[in-house]
Amino acid sequence: MSGNTEYYTCAGCSCLCDDIEIDLDGENAKTVKTACRRGSNIFLEYKENRAEPAIEGRKVEFEEAIKKAQELIEKSKSLAIYGMDTIPIEAQKVAIELAEGKEAYIDNSSSYCLGDFVEMVLKKELPTATFDDVKDYAYVIFYWGVDPHNSLPRHMSRYTYYPRGKKRQRGYEEDRYLVVADIRKSHTAMLVAKNARFIQVDDDLKLVDAFIKVIDKQMPEKYADDAVRVIREMQKADFNVIMGGLGLRYGLKGNYEKFKEMINKMNEVAKVYFIPAGCHANMRGFNEVLFEKTGFVNKYSFKDGESSLDYAFFELLKNDKVDTTLIIGSDPVNSLPFEISKKLAKINTIVVDPRKSFTTQIAKVVIPSAISGVEQGGTMIRSDGVRVKVNSLFEREINDVYVLERLKEVVA
Ligand code: SF4
Repeated sequence: MSGNTEYYTCAGCSCLCDDIEIDLDGENAKTVKTACRRGSNIFLEYKENRAEPAIEGRKVEFEEAIKKAQELIEKSKSLAIYGMDTIPIEAQKVAIELAEGKEAYIDNSSSYCLGDFVEMVLKKELPTATFDDVKDYAYVIFYWGVDPHNSLPRHMSRYTYYPRGKKRQRGYEEDRYLVVADIRKSHTAMLVAKNARFIQVDDDLKLVDAFIKVIDKQMPEKYADDAVRVIREMQKADFNVIMGGLGLRYGLKGNYEKFKEMINKMNEVAKVYFIPAGCHANMRGFNEVLFEKTGFVNKYSFKDGESSLDYAFFELLKNDKVDTTLIIGSDPVNSLPFEISKKLAKINTIVVDPRKSFTTQIAKVVIPSAISGVEQGGTMIRSDGVRVKVNSLFEREINDVYVLERLKEVVA
């Protein structure tokens, strides 16, 4: 392999860039081309900070860690499985089968991220499109409550604003109209210059209302000029796209009916699609796989056969509803409030992760796995719903599918 250049897939975020060129020297990446800085570091530094098999902080053989985790899962009367945003859908399916066999709770980060948007798209309540169509046809490129410049580094250059497409040949300054709606002048908003508009939003619902009112020829309370201008631009083309992020999700305060009404109204006077703009590589993959099996995208209880806010991982911990957790490729101790995350140290926490994290430090059992895109391939689902075959540098025998199949033996 020395000196060969091949294309690989980066699983650093939901862009899932599959055009990464890497010069390999044995098992080391010498140079990484095409990737953003975050993506490059995944390949260049993949040997660093690796998790090791451990039981209560004591290093053990891999097989011992597996056996201990099996024992804890078998004894558990109330198990929650969480994470899975960065592993391939082949492994997500095994985790879901394990949850089903144990009548466990299962959830991923989308329950407090963009799961609601993905659910609306999967239920066909919002019209959606692929990035290929966006690249070829989209005129208004509207980022709402998301700063792709930082969170999705190649989103704009690879899929949306900058590329020239079949019907968008004249370059972004002439052939695209960029709209950025955010509470602050983000790095993406700083790109707003010619043929573009920044809307500084302190109330997302009022901006939603402004679009509806302008289309109904009524005077909105706020954002009238912004709404008039954006609708006028949308009417110039037969393809426009809104990409909604976390800021929009929280700004809507659960008022999704109003948002759907706005998208429907826009489609009375123009052609507008919606794509969730999420972060984690395969968050949508988990949503789709669980949706295919249960009709719900997250926070699901196999015991009760339903999804509920009560079954969100955060709520389960807060309300002391579980005695054991299996956390796969996620670091909730780093992201949850301390009062909640410290509970993970008191129950049986099993972590399957290729890297050390705050959560591996408090776990009863740590099982190392493989890094997606580097040591394990598979299938992931991009935020626009397109399935991407992940080409990895190598295939390790001990990967997420293998580890989860071993843990699933307790319910076989
Ligand atoms: S944009 Fe995302 S998927 Fe693409 S190279 Fe950067 S981190 Fe990787």
